Amino acid sequence: MKIAFIGLGNMGGGMAANLVKAGHQVRAFDLSPDAVARAVQSGCSSVATVGEAVSDAEAVVSMLPNGAIVDDVYSKEVFGKAPAGALLLDCSTIDVATARKVAEAAEKAGYAMVDAPVSGGIAAASAGTLTFMVGGSDEAFARAEPILAAMGKTVIHAGASGAGQAAKLCNNMLLAIHMIGTCEAFAMAQKLGLDPQTFYDISSVSSGQNWSMTSYCPVPGVGPQSPADNNYEGGFATALMLKDLTLALAAAEEVGVDPAMGKRARELYDAFAAAGNGTRDFSAIIETLD
Ligand code: NAD
Repeated sequence: MKIAFIGLGNMGGGMAANLVKAGHQVRAFDLSPDAVARAVQSGCSSVATVGEAVSDAEAVVSMLPNGAIVDDVYSKEVFGKAPAGALLLDCSTIDVATARKVAEAAEKAGYAMVDAPVSGGIAAASAGTLTFMVGGSDEAFARAEPILAAMGKTVIHAGASGAGQAAKLCNNMLLAIHMIGTCEAFAMAQKLGLDPQTFYDISSVSSGQNWSMTSYCPVPGVGPQSPADNNYEGGFATALMLKDLTLALAAAEEVGVDPAMGKRARELYDAFAAAGNGTRDFSAIIETLD
């Protein structure tokens, strides 16, 4: 299939490479010449503009920083330039309202579009093991699924347009809350005289068990390998968690929900990022509890 890929950064670079590996012809565009050069090394062809990338595309995949850029790129450079009927897949994490607005504009311009944000970081993007949460019609999802399956291990239809973003933001708000809760529990257990490994052995098979504990433990040397064992490098950057929490709270406000724990998690991650930890893994927030 002829696929245009827009946004070849940390995530998009690996995803475009996996589309090439699956046998697709990928025309890649990014504002950064370095990102384009890496994509060419992985078998993509480079083009000078988004318009050129999408001109004969059967599908367009984007992995961009935020909703304003997604809106701008699609409305100015994809609609009317990609062939009628092309399938549009935005995999960026953006706000629900913009995802719905862009999908509606796509439909008016004659395209089917899905929002397909991902769970999983840079390593999963390279390994092709991302989870995609997809918002769009049944028909658009059926067309998107095989393309997304070439870049991930799980592809789930979340519902209509915007539902993929809604699922991603609700999930990541919950992740932030249970990560902070897990950090607090370990810090408190230790101060109460418990060995961290002993607390893990108890809590990981008790009702406190959760993903932040058993798959991504914030305490070095406890549980499976995690960024804590690598000085909190790699993994999921605090700045990205803060971005997702900000989007989640905007979505909550739109629908009249007041998530007290989500708001507190955002305040804590905001302060942690402002203290110079934006590029560190989000589990490093345990250090604030020393
Ligand atoms: P990144 O900054 O590494 O990549 C974004 C790329 O988009 C850059 O190469 C940039 O040059 C390019 N770009 C910006 N504006 C453009 C434009 N107008 N036209 C073409 N290219 C343009 O970011 P990333 O880490 O790859 O994240 C991309 C998206 O994936 C974000 O929405 C992020 O929230 C989401 N995400 C990231 C992770 C992660 O672990 N990095 C995990 C899940 C989701």
